[in-house]
Amino acid sequence: MKDKFSIAIHGGAGTLTRGLMSEEMEQNYKKDLLRALRCGASLLEKGASSMDAVEAAVRELEDSPLFNAGKGSVFTHEGKHEMDACIMEGNSRKAGAVAGVSGIRNPVSLARLVMEKSDHVLLSSKGALQFARQQGVSIEEDEYFYNELRYLQWQQALKEGTVQLDHTPLNEKKFGTVGAVALDIHGNLAAATSTGGMTNKRFGRIGDSPIPGAGNYANNATCAVSCTGSGEYFIRGVVAYDVSCLIEYKGLTLKQACHEVIQNRVMALGGDGGLIAVSPSGELCLEFNTEGMYRASRDIDGLERVGIYR
Ligand code: ASP
Repeated sequence: MKDKFSIAIHGGAGTLTRGLMSEEMEQNYKKDLLRALRCGASLLEKGASSMDAVEAAVRELEDSPLFNAGKGSVFTHEGKHEMDACIMEGNSRKAGAVAGVSGIRNPVSLARLVMEKSDHVLLSSKGALQFARQQGVSIEEDEYFYNELRYLQWQQALKEGTVQLDHTPLNEKKFGTVGAVALDIHGNLAAATSTGGMTNKRFGRIGDSPIPGAGNYANNATCAVSCTGSGEYFIRGVVAYDVSCLIEYKGLTLKQACHEVIQNRVMALGGDGGLIAVSPSGELCLEFNTEGMYRASRDIDGLERVGIYR
């Protein structure tokens, strides 16, 4: 499928009770989602690669304080920010990822550097930081990531002794990972995912987002997928790759495969969340088993959509 492009992005899924969010807040989320979508779409329009588009869209979301990735990352148990990210190219099936990194403004771009400038796929914590410095990536001070709402969530989670996957409002269950999938006019797919993980996480906990096949996957023969949700279940369900397998081995359509994985298989494990996916023909699917998922898309006919609730 040449000369056509499509792109979808997400800013996390969760139990977002309608009415609890102010109209103004809702508009802010939609504004940031649309900005990120258009940033990716305008690149695709000019003939850029899907890799460039998903990286650019995710960078926009990482720079927004509203989403749990980059600047808006949640607090760990120790009051730090440890981020995970992955990017994957459908043509070569090359991937790059970082896990548990601190001080990185745009973890998705560091993930791409891992793919392009190292012999490895996944680098973690201190080593990943060493690599970042070697590549000339500037390291941010802690203040860059400070956010009052995240701080309050952390305090609440500390008090309750829980780990939280959610961000606003305090008692709502909501995932805040960000991601993008795209088909470019050259027929190539790509997927990128970035997250601050769970509030109050400890022991170096890593979620599904930086793991190729679990939270992020791209293969030109089948689909590109970016997930959000309860990471432990998405790792066990090898969710992104499972969508691809159902298409490759069972002949399911993109929509059937996404539905099966999110509504049946992840649910059966006890997990909740969602994903965005694109097929080689540019068909998009935005599937979730939660009350909402921050999302936006532009299909091959140029139709733009933005949504939060079901
Ligand atoms: N999947 C992410 C994780 O477990 C969380 C999220 O999607 O918000 O780290």
